[in-house]
Amino acid sequence: MFEALVTEKDYKKIPSKCILTRGIKVKMSEVAVPVSYAAAFEGERVRREQLHVEFGGKASTAFEYLTAKSKEDEVEDGKFELIGPDIDQLPATSKSLPLAIIVDVYGRKMQKDFEPVLERQIHRFMNYAMGIMHVGQRDMKWVRISKDAFEKGFRLKHVGVILHAMLHQEYSAIVDKIQVKLYTKQEDIDKLLVAAKKTYEERDERISGMSDESVDTYYSCLLCQSFAPNHVCIVTPERLGLCGAYSWLDAKASFEITPTGPNQPILKGRTVDQRLGQWDNVNDFVKQRSNKTIDKVSMYSLMDSPQSSCGCFECIVAIIPEANGVMVVHRDYSGITPCGMSFTTLAGSVGGGVQTPGFLGVGKLYILSKKFILAEGGLKRLVWMPKELKELLGDKLRKCCQESGQPDLWDKIADETVATTSEELISFLTKVGHPALEMEALV
Ligand code: SF4
Repeated sequence: MFEALVTEKDYKKIPSKCILTRGIKVKMSEVAVPVSYAAAFEGERVRREQLHVEFGGKASTAFEYLTAKSKEDEVEDGKFELIGPDIDQLPATSKSLPLAIIVDVYGRKMQKDFEPVLERQIHRFMNYAMGIMHVGQRDMKWVRISKDAFEKGFRLKHVGVILHAMLHQEYSAIVDKIQVKLYTKQEDIDKLLVAAKKTYEERDERISGMSDESVDTYYSCLLCQSFAPNHVCIVTPERLGLCGAYSWLDAKASFEITPTGPNQPILKGRTVDQRLGQWDNVNDFVKQRSNKTIDKVSMYSLMDSPQSSCGCFECIVAIIPEANGVMVVHRDYSGITPCGMSFTTLAGSVGGGVQTPGFLGVGKLYILSKKFILAEGGLKRLVWMPKELKELLGDKLRKCCQESGQPDLWDKIADETVATTSEELISFLTKVGHPALEMEALV
């Protein structure tokens, strides 16, 4: 009945209103960018020697944020704005800029729940451009543009062209209008990031209260197979995707939007091992979709058939055998950890889509899950984490520590201010009487 009620008195808006009202879908036949654009370039890396400019990672603040607007006149289809310098106006001695990618969409069939699903596609769509590398998600992202792409004429407006064209091309069933704004001034980014972080938190909150036992179906995510061809994420209510951007609800919404896409439902089937978190249908699915490289996967274990890791993980969980416990380090921590490696070095050995017992890429919210390495004893195994991550998880982590049966566990988890070597760590853990020292041997 929508059609019968529409009026538009502004003649300039009549064509777009007619398109929208009649449900005519805009399809972009070509992505007009000055570099080659195809799925084949998705796994391409831009190395330091090829680099023209980078955003995020260790270089600057960068984030992406897609929201659905409720009124159609809030979005002007195809509009692009750049607020701040472009990549041909870099400061003389710098190869980095801060970046906020803000995408507004409107669609008659768009739902709030679809926002994270569409936002996560920014990763894929940008990676299709030759000479552009996009890693991570939300406010933990890293984008590189190569010298070649720059010399061919690639500028930030082309990010808008890509997102506008591809969202229309793949999501026209739910999206009618798309506009993109890019910010490259730190003061703007600091302000906008506050709202984005609030939304990320609200999205994460939606799933709290759900348990793995309350559903009979989990979801796969195969989105990262372009970088790690054998990697399969299994997303459950109590364990989100390791990038931190896909919860069970997001994967479910993604399947509703694209039934043949990367997020497929997996009916759990028979429980193979409750303690490890293994189900026969999940194992079968992983075996098949990992190209027969992974026979089985334990959703709750670090040591026995852990899930593989691609490269997008927010954090790495790593065994520290001499402490009989585990440490967690997040992407923003650049120092050395008590296992003798930095995040970057660890990431090199953990990623790539292989199972690495003792090492696990995780989304940071999995640390707060009741299923966090449950087979090894859960949170009581956690002996070290960077101060920043501890504070980031804040009261939620304190609550989980209390619920672990060790009310003072929070104070017993070391950070870099008390230990950066395994000797310092053992000395601290012994002094505070950390429970991991008394637990069953990990190895
Ligand atoms: S890390 Fe996992 S959940 Fe996230 S996009 Fe990649 S495959 Fe999907």
